[in-house]
Amino acid sequence: MPENKMKFCPWCGNRLKMFEISGKERSICSDARCGYVFWNNPAPVVAAIVEHNGNVILVRSHGWPEGWFGLVTGFLEKGEMPETAVLREVKEETGLDGKVGAYIGMYPFYERNQLIIAYHVLSGGGEILLDSDELEDYREVPIEKVKPWPMGTGAALRDWLRTLGYEREFSKSPRL
Ligand SMILES: [Zn+2]
Repeated sequence: MPENKMKFCPWCGNRLKMFEISGKERSICSDARCGYVFWNNPAPVVAAIVEHNGNVILVRSHGWPEGWFGLVTGFLEKGEMPETAVLREVKEETGLDGKVGAYIGMYPFYERNQLIIAYHVLSGGGEILLDSDELEDYREVPIEKVKPWPMGTGAALRDWLRTLGYEREFSKSPRL
């Protein structure tokens, strides 16, 4: 959400107005006593490169363009650390118990105003049970074949492959 679409203050319900703070136009509450400012801070999102039986699990959310797949991702919950959140998301979305193998890095996703925190997660094995409320489909792609894509979580996958000695160009899109 790059711009503010809210018309009313989420704290007090009064109208929001534009106001310049430190040289930047911000959406603020029209009631000065309230003090709400829409800072539009990016949201931290965890992403998992799930390694499962020598494959990487890629998932596809409802409503994504045909053929697109990505990493398992999700928002942190209040009071949760990223390492905990990423394992919770893997469990919720794939049904797999996992453990964090390595922290891969942080990646900006400007289009969605998110900061992606990526981990390599080793699955403990077992059957994949897809969360059909959130996801439409998944693929298990052999590590020797999986290709990174040029947006969102793709750079994390490229960097992880590098740690294994695979130098792979970005594919043209997140399509498999
Ligand atoms: Zn307000």
